[in-house]
Amino acid sequence: MKNLLAVFLLLCSWGVMGQTLREIKINCSYEELTAPDFIKAVEKSSGVCLLPIGILEKHGPHLPLGTDIYECRKIATTAAEQEYCVVFPTYYTGQINEARHQPGTIAYSSELIWKVLQETCDELSRNGMKKIIIVNGHGGNNDFLKFFCMSQLHSPKDYVLVFFQPSESPETSKKISSLRQTDTGGHADEMETSMMRFIRPDLVKTERAGTQSGKNQERLAEIPFQYTGIWWYANYPNHYAGDATKSSPELGRLIVESDASQLVQLIKILKHSNKIEELQNRFYKESADPLHTGQ
Ligand SMILES: [Zn+2]
Repeated sequence: MKNLLAVFLLLCSWGVMGQTLREIKINCSYEELTAPDFIKAVEKSSGVCLLPIGILEKHGPHLPLGTDIYECRKIATTAAEQEYCVVFPTYYTGQINEARHQPGTIAYSSELIWKVLQETCDELSRNGMKKIIIVNGHGGNNDFLKFFCMSQLHSPKDYVLVFFQPSESPETSKKISSLRQTDTGGHADEMETSMMRFIRPDLVKTERAGTQSGKNQERLAEIPFQYTGIWWYANYPNHYAGDATKSSPELGRLIVESDASQLVQLIKILKHSNKIEELQNRFYKESADPLHTGQ
């Protein structure tokens, strides 16, 4: 009888534990978690942490300086609500030298943005977040972030760093082109303005979108076969690329939801797959003694 009671109590406690793990409500936002809840969050997220990276820069004459921050954070939080993981607080130390001539730009040095990102990843790992996914909101960061990811191979790491790369499905591309009214863009354009009209319509000054030119000025067209740091300024001195006089919140919702659904897929896969860790560890081992790498 005593044994039966013990088994019964054990089964009950398992049930409660199972239910607790599945149904416990823990916030996704890193900064909103208490320290005891942070421990549960690491477990519930399987160590997956999203790191949305934005920037502070002009976005044409009509969008807020923090546009990229709002965009990547909205995609990250939308995904985290669908597939639990932790979302790192507002982060805006990135590469934005090309907009230093515009009011409001905060362009930290290359050394600093590198160190802040490296130490943020290292500290996340020290706190149990072993799978970090960068969700980038700023085009000027892309080359920096890829170089940063590649540089992680220089010395062994006990975590994986993944740079989220959304790609429009043919179905989404079709829907986007049916909603789009312009065919140029790249910065503070119809797409970004639509996203902001979906995310924070109160911050969009649509009526100002036509007060500056977002046309490609092609001021270096006479010098072909080259890449130079001034290329963006040469083409888009107003730090505005495209025509945002037309935009729609529906288009913005479509872009955000499409990106978020791909991010959900990535989070789910990383929670269950250790493929990257395995390959990294094998690589680090071989790198320490390359003469014994199988030939
Ligand atoms: Zn932007």
